[in-house]
Amino acid sequence: MKDCIFCKIVKKEIPSNIVYENDKVMAFLDANPTNPGHTLVVPKKHFPSLLETDDNAVKELFVAVKRVANAVKEAVGAQGINIGVNNDRAAGQIIFHTHVHVIPRFTGDGLQMWPQGKYQKGQAENIKKEITKHLK
Ligand code: 5GP
Ligand code: ZN
Repeated sequence: MKDCIFCKIVKKEIPSNIVYENDKVMAFLDANPTNPGHTLVVPKKHFPSLLETDDNAVKELFVAVKRVANAVKEAVGAQGINIGVNNDRAAGQIIFHTHVHVIPRFTGDGLQMWPQGKYQKGQAENIKKEITKHLK
């Protein structure tokens, strides 16, 4: 897609530190790492977000994510790995070409996960019903 920075990286029109590629997927270092080794894994074909990505492309993407995550973990001596996807602006997505963050984690690195709350009475049951109703 024209004007998509990750399509340009995939086509090697702009430089990146590529750590893995096959005919469907590419992985390269995030330019602004949360921790050193932070890698982005992308389908070579343009989809705006994971939620709009073809099932087959998702499968190929996540097989590569697992492989890359193991390599990143060993390469930087991480004790853990966060694997995350931001979908849509409200969830923090800035680049609208599907990408999976592979973030190495170190004991005591100080990164915070999401804050967590509690359900009100009956709320979880209602949400569960709504989710199952909307499954396609
Ligand atoms: P998002 O918030 O959309 O999930 O994350 C986009 C990520 O892409 C950010 O972590 C950002 O640092 C990274 N990024 C943005 N532009 C470039 C670029 O030109 N090259 C590389 N390697 N990473 C980029
Ligand atoms: Zn793109």
